Amino acid sequence: MEQNEDINQFDIPLAKRTYLSKSNSLLLKKLLIFSPFLFLIFSIASLRLIRNIELEPLSYLNFQVEKNHDHRILGHLPYDEIHKDKLVLIEPNIAVHIDMRDSLLKMREEARKDGIYLVFLSGYRSINLQNDIFYSLKSIRKQEAAERARVSAPPGYSEHSTGFAIDIGDAAQRETDFETEFENTEAFIWLKKNAAKFHFKLSFNKNNKYIDYEPWHWRYEGSIEALKVFETANRHL
Ligand SMILES: [Zn+2]
Repeated sequence: MEQNEDINQFDIPLAKRTYLSKSNSLLLKKLLIFSPFLFLIFSIASLRLIRNIELEPLSYLNFQVEKNHDHRILGHLPYDEIHKDKLVLIEPNIAVHIDMRDSLLKMREEARKDGIYLVFLSGYRSINLQNDIFYSLKSIRKQEAAERARVSAPPGYSEHSTGFAIDIGDAAQRETDFETEFENTEAFIWLKKNAAKFHFKLSFNKNNKYIDYEPWHWRYEGSIEALKVFETANRHL
């Protein structure tokens, strides 16, 4: 008897369950009414997702291009500092990347045979040294950073920190060192004719819209590492 009573007690919740199932069917009806809309929303969401996936490679490329542009500061591209192990001295105060040493010395030797005496003015410069050059000269000349950047790279943005750049003068005309007039020297004329044979290239020619013409500044592109370093520079002139 006691057991039956217990069963009867369960009847009450069972009655409640009928009520719940009614509400469920109401929900189902609502779902059926709204299902076309839900289907529409789901379709739109799926289409958008598919479009985004398809567009992704393209937008990634655009991002890369923007990134390259963004990385330029006052017209100069960023360059990492060469690992110290790859630096070699070619003169007591001039170090360069080991990859370009032989080619550079050979070029000077060939020029000498033609009666041209090339002088190496500046090779590798650390980012710290570039920092001093950029900021001290800027304040001495009372120039704004943008003006200064036309003639000197901001720290971290100089080809000299890669060890692949060399500033060259003419031993017979030292007054033209680091001057545009260097372009009228015998040394420059010889370099223009012969530097490419030794894989040297003028970095900032007259067509560069960001940086002033620097006839004395040459970079080496005779190794894979050097080509990689200057790939962006060669793409965006
Ligand atoms: Zn230079």
